[in-house]
Amino acid sequence: MDASLYKPYSSPDWTDWKWQFRNRITRVEELEKVITLSEAEKADISRCLKTFRMAITPYYASLMDPTDPACPIRMQAVPTINETRVLPYEMEDPLNEECSSPVPNIVHRYPDRVLFLVTRQCSMYCRHCTRRRVVGEEDGAITIAEVDAAVDYIARTSQIRDVLISGGDPLTLPDAVLERIIERLRGIDHVEVIRIGTRVPVVMPMRITPELTALLKKNHPIWINTHFNHARELTPESVKACADIVDAGIPLGNQSVLLRNINDNTETIKELLLGLVKARVRPYYLYQCDLSRGIGHFRTKVETGIEIMQNLTGSISGFAVPRFVIDAPGGGGKIPINPEYIVSMDDKEVVMRNYKGDLYTYPQPIDLQKNVPT
Ligand SMILES: *Cc1c(COP(=O)(O)O)cnc(C)c1O
Ligand code: SF4
Repeated sequence: MDASLYKPYSSPDWTDWKWQFRNRITRVEELEKVITLSEAEKADISRCLKTFRMAITPYYASLMDPTDPACPIRMQAVPTINETRVLPYEMEDPLNEECSSPVPNIVHRYPDRVLFLVTRQCSMYCRHCTRRRVVGEEDGAITIAEVDAAVDYIARTSQIRDVLISGGDPLTLPDAVLERIIERLRGIDHVEVIRIGTRVPVVMPMRITPELTALLKKNHPIWINTHFNHARELTPESVKACADIVDAGIPLGNQSVLLRNINDNTETIKELLLGLVKARVRPYYLYQCDLSRGIGHFRTKVETGIEIMQNLTGSISGFAVPRFVIDAPGGGGKIPINPEYIVSMDDKEVVMRNYKGDLYTYPQPIDLQKNVPT
């Protein structure tokens, strides 16, 4: 296998995101030009593609180790037969998003903020995607009438302060479409913050063009969250995309998913987090993998995440540590899962364990007049 013979890898159009998008690897016949695949693997992949399509940008494919099936980039992008194993408690819609959807394409779970799903299309289809039920349709942008209905809902619901534009990947939309959506939202007085959730900086960093950042900058306050899972994704290209976003005055956060055999140990997560803060990206959430259908092979034990959090706290800068959360099955929202630092707590004192395991006591306040606990 010599991936340098793969023609797109030397294309003069490499830095053009539309070219990257058009030339995505979507079929086994293309994939086998880039990585080594056995006959059995090829058959397995074809089987998986009946349920959830494959698309890998040439850029992201170029990061894959061509011969190692355990490559953390490859494992996020290339289907395996494990995807056909569906466990009894796995669900189409594990977060019950449809139940919290007052109008199509809006998920309103928390009082002051909504998810606005503007497209079902992504530049790469992550094998561990939570929204496999909806994501993966090409030309998946919602219609103008659907945008109108969603914007109307936001406009008439005055407690919505924060709109999170998500999908699919919103940054697969052309600038003009994105601009129209953002400007509609900016026209609503009570919408203070607009957020965009996108994996583009990781899988198609050339999408972050000067035109795009200028468009976003005109509509501040805009925040972006992206989705790096492994330090190997922090390439010169992706680091540059992050820098361009941050230089446009956009606070950039990262949401990672804890994935079995990809990043489920302290060293790998630590390297990722330190690389992110060096790139001026603030780690935001570390997610326990959801219960979507066919992703059971990616799930880790909850204890693994707690142990990683325990090892991180105190050992790296506070702003490099994300919050570890489980998005509660059934639609309960994100629940923070923390190592246990409180050993005991009563009216008189709190006994705590620090990151090294040493015990400390903090006395509770007392009523100074009566000299008793408050
Ligand atoms: C995650 C999520 C949000 C945003 O939550 P934050 O904790 O504010 O980042 C909003 N709505 C839904 C349905 C979500 O799943
Ligand atoms: S970019 Fe996000 S929505 Fe798209 S496939 Fe990956 S995880 Fe799913």
